[in-house]
Amino acid sequence: MSTIIIIGGGWAGCAAALAAQQGKTKHIILLERTDLLLGCGLAGGIMRNNGRYTAAEELRLLGAGDLIEAADRAATHVAFNFPGHSHASLYSTSIMEPTVRALLEKRNIDVRSLSRVVDVRSSEGAIQAVQLTDKSWLEGDVFIECTGSAGPMGNCVRFGNGCAMCMLRCPSFGPRVSITARMGITDCMGMRQDGAVGSLSGSCEIRKDSLATPLQRALKKDGVSVTPLPEQLVHRSMLKKKSCRQYALPDFANNIVLLDTGGQAKMMTPYFPIDQLRKVPGFENALYSHGSSMANSVRFLSRAPRNDSMRVTGAKNLFCAGEKSGFFVGHTEAMATGTLAGHNAAAMADGGIEVQFPKELACGDIIAAESEGLEQEDGLSQRYTFSGGIYFERMQKRGLYVMDTAELRTRIRRLGLTGFFAATRNNAAA
Ligand SMILES: Cc1cc2nc3c(=O)[nH]c(=O)nc-3n(C[C@H](O)[C@H](O)[C@H](O)COP(=O)(O)OP(=O)(O)OC[C@H]3O[C@@H](n4cnc5c(N)ncnc54)[C@H](O)[C@@H]3O)c2cc1C
Repeated sequence: MSTIIIIGGGWAGCAAALAAQQGKTKHIILLERTDLLLGCGLAGGIMRNNGRYTAAEELRLLGAGDLIEAADRAATHVAFNFPGHSHASLYSTSIMEPTVRALLEKRNIDVRSLSRVVDVRSSEGAIQAVQLTDKSWLEGDVFIECTGSAGPMGNCVRFGNGCAMCMLRCPSFGPRVSITARMGITDCMGMRQDGAVGSLSGSCEIRKDSLATPLQRALKKDGVSVTPLPEQLVHRSMLKKKSCRQYALPDFANNIVLLDTGGQAKMMTPYFPIDQLRKVPGFENALYSHGSSMANSVRFLSRAPRNDSMRVTGAKNLFCAGEKSGFFVGHTEAMATGTLAGHNAAAMADGGIEVQFPKELACGDIIAAESEGLEQEDGLSQRYTFSGGIYFERMQKRGLYVMDTAELRTRIRRLGLTGFFAATRNNAAA
């Protein structure tokens, strides 16, 4: 029986683990350095906004919709609009993690938290084993790196405004480690629009119970609240620092946009000085839960070289997904790349062939667009998401933004890919 080891339990790693459980029976091990799965997804929640709706439906029709459907079931609000974004849904960040953990365990994924990989043993471009902090070695046949691109703390201090003790909690659980770098492979770093290294996470979270009652009510009823800011509190330069280009719109600088993600309210700005925030009606007692007055995590610091099957260039048995695999922003984007990496890792373990998503689908086109974009002059400062910015524009121009599921079903059937990822699911995943 072959062993597939996935390093990093964010959305990409979880999707990779589920997709790898196919073909011949395998031992799938998911290693996560913290005590929780989902990584940045612990503070996220926005799904199905703009082109993410199409991508979510594609994944479902391709037979890789387990995580999409889990997020749908955990939704606090569905089919609502907020500035620049249509038909969004929000999952509850309070229940998402245990829901996903239960799903992975039901599918016989060997989930190991508090398991930080610190080194690899490799020869001639092939990894044989990874080393954990307790110095033990874990051998595997094929590996998938889903370690994300955020932090660690030293980078948030160097390229940002310090460590905000975000959901990745590096001081407690130890820093992110780049597996590709441990193999001697050179990653690249993203840049901001203003020329600085990396990007600041695009949102921070506020305790909902610290908001005035009318704001809490609006969030509960509509999922969103938009509070205009007095001119002196508008910070337009913030838009250039954000990793989420889809939210780099004037509406997000001129207003405080809050979204209801269950226990928290997601504030659509990387940070905001709390003394200024408390001058805004309704925010007099505001308290942050993730993010802070001056800092948030810095991301896009470690993009691995890869082909469009998600195999790392220069490595024989290492795949990558999520933010590690490109300047992709989002849970849905991490699920799509994770699914492909997991499928191809399992195919490699079984002696099969690597596949790519076809470019007739948004899930395939975004991977190709990101690869092509990297060759451009401004390649390091572009970000790719189905939900906005340059990729959503391309998606629309190419007729890939489809809101009609029946039309997508026909498209996927014509490609011969209906239920593709579910068709080869093995008994262990039953
Ligand atoms: C504050 C914030 C809010 C966001 N909101 C949204 C949103 O609403 N909607 C949306 O679509 N996107 C959102 N995003 C973006 C989205 O969360 C990310 O793009 C996506 O989740 C990245 O997933 P990932 O699996 O690639 O990486 P990550 O989520 O970064 O996961 C990487 C995981 O790898 C682990 N890891 C790292 N190194 C090691 C190691 N050596 N050994 C073991 N484990 C390791 C980490 O602990 C982490 O759990 C948000 C991001 C942030 C930061």
